[in-house]
Amino acid sequence: MIIKNIKELIGNTPLFAFDAAALGGKPGSQIFAKLEYLNPGGSIKDRLGLKLIHQAFLDGEIDRHTTIIEPTAGNTGIGMALAGLEYGLKMIFVIPEKFSVEKQQLIRGLGAQIVHTATEEGIQGAIEKAKALAKDIPNSYLPLQFHNEKNPAAYSSTLGPEIFQALHGKIDSFVAGVGSGGTFAGVSAYLLKQKANIRLIAVEPEGSILNGGPAHGHDIEGIGVEFVPRFFDQLSIDAIDTISDEEGFRFTRHLAKAYGLLVGSSSGAAMAAAVKESWRLPAGSQIVTLFPDSGDRYLSKQIYEGRADLSIEGGNEDAF
Ligand code: PMP
Repeated sequence: MIIKNIKELIGNTPLFAFDAAALGGKPGSQIFAKLEYLNPGGSIKDRLGLKLIHQAFLDGEIDRHTTIIEPTAGNTGIGMALAGLEYGLKMIFVIPEKFSVEKQQLIRGLGAQIVHTATEEGIQGAIEKAKALAKDIPNSYLPLQFHNEKNPAAYSSTLGPEIFQALHGKIDSFVAGVGSGGTFAGVSAYLLKQKANIRLIAVEPEGSILNGGPAHGHDIEGIGVEFVPRFFDQLSIDAIDTISDEEGFRFTRHLAKAYGLLVGSSSGAAMAAAVKESWRLPAGSQIVTLFPDSGDRYLSKQIYEGRADLSIEGGNEDAF
């Protein structure tokens, strides 16, 4: 394969097939994980970066002198910085301090600038700071992934069709984490159009509010919300699985040690939820989930230190 532009490597990622039983799930069922961490920026958000920047050019919303400003947990920043390279765009990303230093270094490595907000102010604090910066900087553009319809569209136009085609439509359930809700909503909308009875399972960490629990901090990074995301309530969701940090990280480490999959903690949480979902379905079911980013961007947080076994509580139908 010979390429001339990094964008050519975005998308068309492989699906990894797991026997659900090997991970504590229902014997006879399969779980497929889309390896989105193999995108060139290391995450699913490369697709979004491409859509937000390229489409904004086509729509005349930005030109080569525009400053892009965006609040982000990091991966969207990396994806947008990658997509913006060829246009020479100036980019500023507003990031709550707690997010991993590796992601911040990658953003700087791609030539973008970072502004920090206090961890306690959450992503809402970052959104407000980005809006304030945009007021002061002429010819600036705020894509605002939390509100921008191009966010789910980036996935309904690429990720959804890739999954559906690879499995020839044999999908019983789609399980994915929710941050902005863009990947979940975009892929779900596409799959529902193809197959009206597909089950949709949202995943959040403990400390996120979708299941009504109290908002508090969590170590699983990239998913979890302090408010119901705009793209979330438009959908018919069958279940919301709330995964503890302990369980999410245990699955993350197991994926590395047993399969060589060096993915981040939102992938481990997604797999934990996919295993639970397998028990709700008949044997022989096919469940699809996403591994949104790579684990090497969390090494400073000792992501791979600790328990990696899957002695799942119960491990049978009653447990879930
Ligand atoms: N996993 C990781 C690692 C992420 O960075 C994100 C995006 N914040 C997600 C999952 C969730 O994606 P979305 O914003 O589309 O809900």
